Amino acid sequence: MSGKAILLMKSATLFTRAKKSLVGGVNSPVRAFKAVGGDPIFFRRGKGAFVEDVDGNRYLDFCLSWGPLILGHARAEILRAAGAALKNGSTFGAPCEGEVILAEAVRRAMPSLERVRFTSSGTEAVMGALRVARAFTRRSRVIKFAGCYHGHSDGLLVQAGSGATTLGQPDSAGVPPKWAADTLVLPYNDAAALAHAFKQFDDIACVIVEPIVGNMGVVLPEPAFLEALKTVPRKHGALLIFDEVITGFRVGLGGAQALFNIKPDLTTLGKIIGGGFPVGAFGGRRDVMEMLAPVGPAYQAGTLSGNPVAMAAGAAMLRLLRTEKPYAALAARTAMIAKELTTEAARAGSPLQVNHATGMFTVFFTGAPVRDYTTAKTADTKKYASFFRSLLTAGVYFPPAQFEAAMLSTLHSDALLESFLKTARRALV
Ligand SMILES: *Cc1c(COP(=O)(O)O)cnc(C)c1O
Repeated sequence: MSGKAILLMKSATLFTRAKKSLVGGVNSPVRAFKAVGGDPIFFRRGKGAFVEDVDGNRYLDFCLSWGPLILGHARAEILRAAGAALKNGSTFGAPCEGEVILAEAVRRAMPSLERVRFTSSGTEAVMGALRVARAFTRRSRVIKFAGCYHGHSDGLLVQAGSGATTLGQPDSAGVPPKWAADTLVLPYNDAAALAHAFKQFDDIACVIVEPIVGNMGVVLPEPAFLEALKTVPRKHGALLIFDEVITGFRVGLGGAQALFNIKPDLTTLGKIIGGGFPVGAFGGRRDVMEMLAPVGPAYQAGTLSGNPVAMAAGAAMLRLLRTEKPYAALAARTAMIAKELTTEAARAGSPLQVNHATGMFTVFFTGAPVRDYTTAKTADTKKYASFFRSLLTAGVYFPPAQFEAAMLSTLHSDALLESFLKTARRALV
């Protein structure tokens, strides 16, 4: 982590070339660095807590592919497991033992998933969960919370307007308003709004929520909100879906549901579950999940679902997490970072909120406590961009946008974090 200006020649050349064949030069918008300025960096290698770009610069990585790499880049056991599976062929489009092994590991970690189905992404997992919830309840309306991200399917690309209840207004061009009209958006951490919505509408199929939010930056659920999630939907015959695509196997092996002792009807998973390969999953109550074909009438499928290479990688990941028990150390280190950055900001007199859960945190440049989307948006995104760029120049790769979670791996050692904090203190002032 030196303070020298970095050369990004090869990245710049690749980006110029990329823009001629890929839309905007990237395959996922946040990668384009629009929120922090400058051009994206092309990576060629990752090892442990570090990534290396095509120009040979090394960075301590706090993005970690947005969450999957809780054990760091290129963990030998995971690569070996994937490699061994690959030798037997990359896909069958038919059942394989790896699917059964990973499903058993998921069920053991999260007993609320009585039945599981694998997909190839978190987005697909959420789509499947909503479909079974609607099929089971025979209702159509879905409640989501402003600032929560549940993948890019049409009906969920809806955030908040003002007021307690905003009827779905699509957030993206290309989503006909009527496709999002069944999505009701409520403010996060607002128990009263949830109760009110159920008084107003009697056709609510399910409530989907990030039990700890990662996608407006880290935002923690307050006790009254958790209590409402646990009781209100059930009272009205609606299902509770925990979107644990980030929190699953990150805040603990049992995810946020174990942490809060809440048993959702359905859970969606992604990111860590694939060990760095494209895997998502949804699961939950047996009676609800058995609405799915081939048992029930709700259709859902995937050519590469349950892919043997990805299943082997995911199973190796869960095995390692079970035996290494990394969560206490991960929680202590995340709390330490939050405390140090908050102290430094107070000393410098600059307003800063550091929200954190185990292995994930967000540095919000605002004086107001961040507890929902409205307060998150008070953050000064220009200050975040300049923080990001100072870190980058010093060899630290942070998520290239304010409203994201920075991630820790088990290889972000105390020594590495000390050196990160030195850099970050300088970047804050
Ligand atoms: C990343 C994410 C998704 C979407 O997963 P993809 O694999 O990117 O499709 C859904 N929900 C949450 C909470 C996520 O963080």
